[in-house]
Amino acid sequence: MTILITGGAGFIGGHTVLAFLDRGEIPIVLDDLSTGNRAAIPSDVPFFAGDVGDTELVLRLVQNHRIDAILHFAAKIVVPESVADPLNYYLNNTVKTHALLQAAVRGKVKHFVFSSTAAVYGNTGSKSVSETADPAPLSPYGRSKLMSEYMLVDAGEAYDLRYVILRYFNVAGADPAGRLGQSTPGATHLIKVALETALRRRTYMSIYGSDYPTPDGTCVRDYVHVSDLARAHLAALDHLRNGGESRTLNCGYGRGYSVREVVDTVRNITGVDFEIRQAPRREGDPASIVANSDQLMKLGWKPELNDLAKMIEHAHNWESKLIAAESRTAIR
Ligand code: UDP
Repeated sequence: MTILITGGAGFIGGHTVLAFLDRGEIPIVLDDLSTGNRAAIPSDVPFFAGDVGDTELVLRLVQNHRIDAILHFAAKIVVPESVADPLNYYLNNTVKTHALLQAAVRGKVKHFVFSSTAAVYGNTGSKSVSETADPAPLSPYGRSKLMSEYMLVDAGEAYDLRYVILRYFNVAGADPAGRLGQSTPGATHLIKVALETALRRRTYMSIYGSDYPTPDGTCVRDYVHVSDLARAHLAALDHLRNGGESRTLNCGYGRGYSVREVVDTVRNITGVDFEIRQAPRREGDPASIVANSDQLMKLGWKPELNDLAKMIEHAHNWESKLIAAESRTAIR
């Protein structure tokens, strides 16, 4: 039996493809390449360019490749973009997940692992949040993911389908061996933006809001290394394959860093003192969000890269590699 990874050309999906390959399991990938990168997918992985919302296409893949598990990463993930264009987020993240689930049920797929987000929680205060907290998303992005969670939970009740919903906290870093990293053009995430500024791809960066009720006034997030997160998917799928029940699980380290702490660490790692400007709060941002991931650890997840400086170092190596590759292309 084979697994289907949607969004496998993207940042998290791509690292998860590597994690499966590293343990000798070859998945197939479906990705529309809207933000993903074809070059991210190793040549021995069958790749299909297409839309996860195309039920007939997915059903054909499921039947032709004897798919028993779908890992669904393909999504839009930028909070401010979802505030500006919510209907696009509900289409891409919710409507298309519905179509994918329909294909999964029609094709008798047994297992489903869904990429959800800490954004479903909204404001949680300074304590770490566990899965029993009531969700109260602050953005269309968070709501688009929560709606998909609800569909999956109901589908799990009604049909012969078991799932793990993984609620990711702030994903960062890059493959420690340098095979992959965050390549999405125009990425807006903090560590990526700070590194691009340090590497002079931007002249300055903004800190959005310094009047939050946090120790230094900037937002606090739980940054999790993408390769650890990728391995969480192995644990989730193994749990389902071993007959485990459907679960909704947080994935973070349980330790928060403020925007300022992250920026200072980027300055230390790169040795570059770049310009920072104070900007107003960004809409849809909770003050603080930190995971309690005890449940995922009980399921067998063992974080190996819980170290902000290392995470930034890996991302920095990748970013430098991207710049070197671009200048080689420019010289040619
Ligand atoms: N942030 C910032 N400047 C940037 C990008 C992000 O101050 O250029 C802040 C953002 O407001 C939030 C935190 O960094 O408080 C993490 O944002 P990111 O977009 O990385 O992830 P999110 O938490 O929105 O998923």
